Amino acid sequence: MIGIFYPDRMVGEIYDLSLSELASEGVKAILCDLDDTLTPYYDTTTHPRLEAWIEEVKAAGIKLCILSNGKKDRILPMCNQLGLVCLPMSCKPLPFGYIRALRKLGLKRKELVCIGDQIFTDVLGGNLMGIRTVLVEPIAYKTSSVEVKKRQIEKRFRREKGKNA
Ligand SMILES: [Mg+2]
Repeated sequence: MIGIFYPDRMVGEIYDLSLSELASEGVKAILCDLDDTLTPYYDTTTHPRLEAWIEEVKAAGIKLCILSNGKKDRILPMCNQLGLVCLPMSCKPLPFGYIRALRKLGLKRKELVCIGDQIFTDVLGGNLMGIRTVLVEPIAYKTSSVEVKKRQIEKRFRREKGKNA
C-alpha cells in the first residue's frame, strides 16, 4: 500500500534522465509537471536549457505533455510559447487529468511516464493510474509553512531507494 508513495526512479533534475533509456523502455510520452520541475514556482518563463531539452525529447521520439495543477492563465502562455500540449488545473493526484492526457495523446498507460517534484501529487497520481513515475528534486523550495512541512514528510520517501528496491 505504501508503495504508491514511491517513484520508480529518482533523479536530481530532468536533465539527468536518459531519454534513450526511456525510449528503449517503450515510453512514447512524458506527462510532466511544470512548477518546480521544469521552472521555479511562479517563474514560468522559458530558458535555453529547457528549450534544448524539449528538442532532445522530441528527437528521441517522445511527446511531451504538461500536466499541471496550476491555473490556465499562468501555465498556458509558456506552453504555447514552447508548442507543448498542456493540461492545466489537472487536480493531481486525482485521475481526471491523467485520463484526459491519455485520450489526448491516444496512448496506453504503459507508454507514459509521469515526471514531477512532489510525492503527494505527481508520484501518487501516477502510481494510482498505473503509470510509471520519476521524482525530481524541486527546483526551488516554496516558502509557505505548509509546503515546508510537506517537504519534511516527503524526505522519508526520498531517502529510501524506491518502491522496487
Ligand atoms: Mg511541481
